[in-house]
Amino acid sequence: MTELLCVGTSDAFGAGGRRQSAYLVRAPAGSVLLDCGTTTNTGLAELGVSRDEIDAIVVSHFHGDHFGGIPLLLLGALYEDRRRRPLVVAGPPDVEARVRAAAAALGHAIESQQWSFPIIFQQLRPDGFVPVGPFEMRAFATRHSPDANPHGLDLRSDGVRVVYSGDTGWFDELPREVNGAELFLCECTQVHKNFVYHLSLEELAARRGELDCGRLVLTHLGAEMRARRDYEGFEVADDGLTLKL
Ligand SMILES: [Zn+2]
Ligand SMILES: [Zn+2]
Repeated sequence: MTELLCVGTSDAFGAGGRRQSAYLVRAPAGSVLLDCGTTTNTGLAELGVSRDEIDAIVVSHFHGDHFGGIPLLLLGALYEDRRRRPLVVAGPPDVEARVRAAAAALGHAIESQQWSFPIIFQQLRPDGFVPVGPFEMRAFATRHSPDANPHGLDLRSDGVRVVYSGDTGWFDELPREVNGAELFLCECTQVHKNFVYHLSLEELAARRGELDCGRLVLTHLGAEMRARRDYEGFEVADDGLTLKL
């Protein structure tokens, strides 16, 4: 049985009192955390998830609400958990340099610690699946702030395929990237299209027929989206929600 636990489902600004992006995929082979925002450590504690359970953290792009929690997660694994087994930190090109720079800027430089466990940085590729911890994964470029090296994540384990959009606006290759997945976890920051680097309910409702996936769940909801009751029939993620796959 594979499941996905929504640790954080807000936009960058914590809309509706929700936490920033983080999703824990649990499969028989192990667990992978997709994104790790600055509020993710609080979310894991609130939901009773042990950091030690996590085999790999995989980052979609280098915005703080998606990878800002990594430095203190690493430090918690060292000082609180006395972790021994390796932890993979994977993501788009430059993942190691970006995480190291963020950790140093936040006052917790990785090279200043004696780690009790190996931290294994790994770059994902757009042209095929590679093993990441116990999963097979692939990254695909999305339409979002170019400086953040934005990607969506495509994960396979135990015969189940999950695609996560990361942050993105609509782009014509999106259906090809996600079609055939058992679950597509799709960002939907806005109600109306007003910023090209994020998706809107309006656009997704209009293009619903182009997305051929088993289950489509909206996440990364902004304030206006979270305040709605009507989601045009779409399923919507929330903090603490578990999706069984
Ligand atoms: Zn975001
Ligand atoms: Zn972003």
